Amino acid sequence: MKGVPEIFGSMVFNDAVMREKLPKDTYKSLKSTIENGTELDPGVANVVANAMMDWAIEKGATHYTHWFQPMTGITAEKHDSFISPQSGGRVIMEFSGKELIKGEPDASSFPSGGLRATFEARGYTAWDPTSYAFVKDNTLYIPTAFCSYSGEVLDKKTPLLRSMEVISKEAVRMLRLLGDTQTTRVTSTVGPEQEYFLIDKALFRRRKDLMFTGRTLFGARPPKGQELEDHYFGAIKPRVMEFMQDLDNQLWELGILAKTKHNEVAPAQHELAPIFSTTNVATDHNQLTMELMRRVADKHGLACLLHEKPFAGVNGSGKHNNWSLATNTGRNLFEPGKNPHENKIFLVFLCAVIKAVDEHQDLLRVSVASAGNDHRLGANEAPPAIVSIFLGDELCGILDSIEAGQPYEKRSACTMRTGVQVLPDFIKDTTDRNRTSPFAFTGNKFEFRMLGSSFSIAGPNIILNTIVADALSQFSDRLEKASDFDSELCALMRDCVAQHRRIIFNGNNYAPEWVEEAERRGLLNLKSTVDALPHFKSEKNIKLFSKHRIFTETEINSRYEILMENYCKVLNIEALTMIDMAKKEIIPSVFAYSRELSETVAAKKSIGVDITDDAAAELVTNLTKLANCLSKRISSVEDALVAANGIDDLLGRARYFRENVLLCMNEARAAADELETMVSGKYWPFPTYSELMFCI
Ligand code: ADP
Ligand code: MG
Repeated sequence: MKGVPEIFGSMVFNDAVMREKLPKDTYKSLKSTIENGTELDPGVANVVANAMMDWAIEKGATHYTHWFQPMTGITAEKHDSFISPQSGGRVIMEFSGKELIKGEPDASSFPSGGLRATFEARGYTAWDPTSYAFVKDNTLYIPTAFCSYSGEVLDKKTPLLRSMEVISKEAVRMLRLLGDTQTTRVTSTVGPEQEYFLIDKALFRRRKDLMFTGRTLFGARPPKGQELEDHYFGAIKPRVMEFMQDLDNQLWELGILAKTKHNEVAPAQHELAPIFSTTNVATDHNQLTMELMRRVADKHGLACLLHEKPFAGVNGSGKHNNWSLATNTGRNLFEPGKNPHENKIFLVFLCAVIKAVDEHQDLLRVSVASAGNDHRLGANEAPPAIVSIFLGDELCGILDSIEAGQPYEKRSACTMRTGVQVLPDFIKDTTDRNRTSPFAFTGNKFEFRMLGSSFSIAGPNIILNTIVADALSQFSDRLEKASDFDSELCALMRDCVAQHRRIIFNGNNYAPEWVEEAERRGLLNLKSTVDALPHFKSEKNIKLFSKHRIFTETEINSRYEILMENYCKVLNIEALTMIDMAKKEIIPSVFAYSRELSETVAAKKSIGVDITDDAAAELVTNLTKLANCLSKRISSVEDALVAANGIDDLLGRARYFRENVLLCMNEARAAADELETMVSGKYWPFPTYSELMFCI
């Protein structure tokens, strides 16, 4: 058997392969594109395409595909074979630079939010050489960006790449001001921790709600939930372990740095975390990871649930987006470090994050808004919908002294000083205690914890990169004009802390008092997707995105529409599924059971048994009442749905879904869940929570 180092990246056209397969000049030119963002020479593309194809054929590939990330949140691909006809009915394998660089999938069925009229269906994909090509399913996968004929962006990768350019530019500009003459490029790095549930595939198939919506729309609480906390980090069951090993191997082949795996808090819940990489690559890898999780699970007779809230009453699944900035000289800009020069840098970048998060709470909230994540944010398990930063006592102490213009005195033996003076290393543990914060400093990076498990991490990272770049840019504007740099720097940090400290909160974010406190501080509390999304289009945000050329106003509007439409569509599907399950499965099963009970009662009666207070008779009465109630409530869902879909105005429709349809659905569910506790297991039409969560 091959060892992990041999397996790792074996299906990837990575740097080592390029160095080996490409002529020196070609390699150098491509490398410069990858590392410095210089434009690719078309002559180079032909040579690269040829080498790529030869290598891919060796790995069993017969096809290639431009792999892209449309606004559906998942990836898309269309496969073309390498064959090219020759005389005599033969074929040869061919792949040109043009085919490598540009593709033209029919784009008419991808969401564009009104950007592209259906008569103008053309969309283009363009090779992204900063993310390695790879072979999967006998196909060469070429990571690409996706845009419309008129150049409007239709995907998640293009704005992400733009935001990476912007943060690099602004970070380098700031580093120059702070005396760094070496750094020429700064990359944002991300390590996304991925949570998921695994359940038995046969059980999954018997539940329409899981199949169509990814979450259970019905289900009474099982006798045991997560209260014993015996699943978190518990021993992994053999069947799950086999899945995890298979998954790791497949991820490693694709060069994905799968590192940590463990059981999570809820029964049947698990987590996988890779070692961090650049934001762009981390995004591609996370998409692949989610896809492979589903596929490998299927192979092992399991179903992988990536929905944010598959089960009521136990924790939902999130994705922790660990984010930092690294220079091309190998420095993590959020590493507090020992060197005073570095610490100055650390403090300025820290201030930029504080300013960015405070000024753009709305955008961070927008970036994690979805129907699925609404079940999580705000429930007592995930960060609340209020954005705040956790820094820990030590950093807060430093910020206090910056604001007061006084040296920072550490309580322990070693003394820390602020600003231009020495700061010793922080003990990491002291900054990594708070698990309730939506945005926590964790020693040398920030952990943004509001993402839903099924999210592409592109969106949140576009926002993070852009807002921090904007804060840095404002800082630089001010510092570049300063006559006395050091005192202006101190003043800038002092002002920043004074203005934005309201965003810092080290306490328990789940406590109800925090909601009141946050309101006093004037922080936003955008409880649902419908409340959050309109902020995307605010004047402030259009200005921000235009300034940094991330999105045009038209692109923002189109994205807003796609997201809001998606919200309505998800709720529509959920409501329809609920109606279907109630009418075709639950109510008939209640009737069948009632009939059996009635027959029992009749039989008893016929042989003269006294049926006053008879349990079966009483049960029939209660079942009938509840079934009528469920039936009425399902009618209400139907009525609400008709009303919702009759509303033309998108925001109005979304609001109606949120305020009426969802409410009716919750009421219908309550009746059905009570019925579940009364109906014999033999009659209940689909697997219960106990079976789903405890049967692996
Ligand atoms: P925890 O469960 O305590 O949050 P994990 O070890 O599961 O921590 O995850 C931490 C994640 O942070 C990993 O994916 C890791 O690679 C990532 N990470 C570490 N350093 C950085 C960094 N400089 N930039 C981005 N991500 C980082
Ligand atoms: Mg974490």
